[in-house]
Amino acid sequence: MTMTTQTGHNARTLASYVESLLDYPRWVIERDVDFSGCDYQGTFTASAERCTSCQFGTACRWLNLAQLPKPPDQPLPELMNALTTAVDYLQLTYSEGHERGCHCENCLWLRQVRRFLHSQNDLT
Ligand SMILES: [Zn+2]
Repeated sequence: MTMTTQTGHNARTLASYVESLLDYPRWVIERDVDFSGCDYQGTFTASAERCTSCQFGTACRWLNLAQLPKPPDQPLPELMNALTTAVDYLQLTYSEGHERGCHCENCLWLRQVRRFLHSQNDLT
């Protein structure tokens, strides 16, 4: 399994792996969010009530978290944070009614990421 070989690598490799895992939720969430009625052009503004009460608030906040102009070495904790938040979002939004062994893209991604997060927890 590729999953277990990842754990032996250094943090930089780990960060780029996590970065690659974020591609899928970034695509899904971008597709979900409709910015046509947004006064802030999709820039989540935590202080604006319009943002915190917006139906796309959670997804928009995530996109802003995951798409900030990145330094070449984004800290791993931030990537992991974006990853676990994406798991919550996809789980909540798309997993209902899917069986455990489901092979849709979403379920496959969720299983892959859960295994990865699990392997990370075992290390600490
Ligand atoms: Zn599924």
